[in-house]
Amino acid sequence: MSWNTILGQERQKEVLRRAIRLGRLPNAYLFLGPEGVGKEATALEVAKVLNCDSPDALPNAEACGVCESCQKFAELMHPNLELVFPVEGILLENISESSSKREKQEEAFEKLKQLYEEKRRNPYFTMQMDKAMGVLTKQVELLIDKSVFKPSGGKKRVFIISQAERMNQESANKLLKLLEEPPPYVLFILISSRPEQLLPTIVSRCQPIRFSSLSAEQIAEGLKQYSPQSEANIAFAARFARGNFFYAQKLLHDSTLKERRDKALNLLRFALSPHKQLELMREIESLAKQSRDEQSQTLTSMLLFFQDVVRTRETHSHAPILNEDVSDAVKRFAQNFPMADLEQASREIEQARYALSRNANPTLTLMALVIRLKSLILNEVSTHH
Ligand SMILES: [Zn+2]
Repeated sequence: MSWNTILGQERQKEVLRRAIRLGRLPNAYLFLGPEGVGKEATALEVAKVLNCDSPDALPNAEACGVCESCQKFAELMHPNLELVFPVEGILLENISESSSKREKQEEAFEKLKQLYEEKRRNPYFTMQMDKAMGVLTKQVELLIDKSVFKPSGGKKRVFIISQAERMNQESANKLLKLLEEPPPYVLFILISSRPEQLLPTIVSRCQPIRFSSLSAEQIAEGLKQYSPQSEANIAFAARFARGNFFYAQKLLHDSTLKERRDKALNLLRFALSPHKQLELMREIESLAKQSRDEQSQTLTSMLLFFQDVVRTRETHSHAPILNEDVSDAVKRFAQNFPMADLEQASREIEQARYALSRNANPTLTLMALVIRLKSLILNEVSTHH
């Protein structure tokens, strides 16, 4: 990792490097902006520079990449680095040797280890445990305990709190206390793609840095660097990922994308057909059993299908459509449902995607979504708001 492995975000990088060069860092930053655009990767780079052993590191705001400190950062094992993100509560429990929970805890630790391995390989990876309930009070308490230890050699300890909006009320209040009297040798970097869900009192104690969505071109450029493949595959993944570089990388290695898209189209087809209720329920049940990631991809492909329909509707538009292999289906949909409110439909899909990512009941969420979509596509007059 170095600054130039972080895609785009030139202005954001310059603001940070300037603060490092001038020694004018705030006590806390809030990195906000969409997911997968490099907020954590940038936070890690800042932490690495601040701890690099090279005498040129601070004046140039550039880590050497080879000293002992930089190597520990590459391993994400530096003593001055604290990475906080939503984990399963069982990790923090004191469980006796003989307890039946022991095995579950070991499983959770194994998962955590895998997350770290993935993050070391790919700084754009978002560490997240499926059963995590949020950033737990205990995690913030541990941070408070650790904040009393001064780092050696005039370095900075860097506490990175990812998905900071997932702190519960109690942990947020504890963190607030820490932010109110921050130790001078600690730099807090809060990261959030949903900053509106953070306590305003926390936000007001942080200097915000707003990260930009990446363009399809920037993502394609990054994909060529990180995981070279055919131009066509790269172009497809770059557009499908909608500004999220980590997701684009994943998509590039995912051969089941078209299957997901077809599943999404089936869902729509059954929802809009009066005699396919049974098939619709089966499709929902089968999707509900899949992983959250697969559910999210299915919903994303539905969004992209709608985008193609909108492009097709604009008669003067010659913009290429994404789902070229099913262009007939796109055209048919545009003709059959000229009144469909696809803008609102897209918002509903986004909301369902968000709810699912926050552990909402998949069957209920998908069912409610399908009912809303049906009414928006057929453009039935809504009786309630
Ligand atoms: Zn170094």
